[in-house]
Amino acid sequence: MDKLLIGSHVSMSAPKYYLGSVEEAISYGSTTFMFYTGAPQNAFRSPLEKLKIEEGRALIKEHGFDEDKIVVHAPYIINIANQLNQNNYEMAKSVLLNEVKRTAGFGCKILVLHPGSHVNTGVENGIDSIVKALNWVLSQDGTDVKIALETMAGKGSEMGTSFEQMQEIISKTDYPERIGICLDTCHISDNNYDINEFESILDNVENTVGLDKLLVVHVNDSKNPIGSHKDRHENLGYGEIGFDALNKVVHNPRIESVPKILETPFVDDKPPYKIEIEMLRNSEFKDWK
Ligand code: FE
Ligand code: FE
Ligand code: ZN
Repeated sequence: MDKLLIGSHVSMSAPKYYLGSVEEAISYGSTTFMFYTGAPQNAFRSPLEKLKIEEGRALIKEHGFDEDKIVVHAPYIINIANQLNQNNYEMAKSVLLNEVKRTAGFGCKILVLHPGSHVNTGVENGIDSIVKALNWVLSQDGTDVKIALETMAGKGSEMGTSFEQMQEIISKTDYPERIGICLDTCHISDNNYDINEFESILDNVENTVGLDKLLVVHVNDSKNPIGSHKDRHENLGYGEIGFDALNKVVHNPRIESVPKILETPFVDDKPPYKIEIEMLRNSEFKDWK
């Protein structure tokens, strides 16, 4: 299999479940992929026994995917960054714990998590809440799954808006070796990082969390200009970041071993990933819309 570790978000649905997810990834010409173990927007989760995991894993092996580079995304509803409502906080922690265990149940090693919103309780309280929740989860999950905190666009009171803040969170936990980050190009552009200056962004990562902590890159163009704090993804080359800058991210030798995952929008209800992956392989934009 070629070296470029590229894939996309894929679905998981009846009747083929995980087997269908792997087939979908293969159909796009991917070398890795990302999936949710249930609906992204809620915490309802089917039992693992139902999800054709063995069949999916057999195909993963047969196809030569590296299982350690396959990514699970935690449901959006988890918010561990404030304790305004103790019930919600406890719920978020137990949903996260369950999701870490489910990730291990698929044989996967990386779980992407949105760090959450502090909701007017302040950044310091946000950090404290995240650290306590991660400690609670990682003290009892009994797995070797790593949690990748995703960089966010800075909408409202979102946490995870700088690598310095990520470093503060990671270093304050009792389990820094089990926490890393996921860099989303749309989100950090919306958060005022210039993707055209990706080498200096990587220097920034290196000098804060460390490059070894960069576990996933989400490759998305942005509908909005740099610093807009909007979080609206666009297809590669059709947004404000542009194809060339994103192509350079994907081919950057410093992050060769990091899985790159597309989360660009569907067009006419169809996933764009096959053509976008092809464009990245060829390092050439093609006007397909
Ligand atoms: Fe995300
Ligand atoms: Fe993302
Ligand atoms: Zn986003």
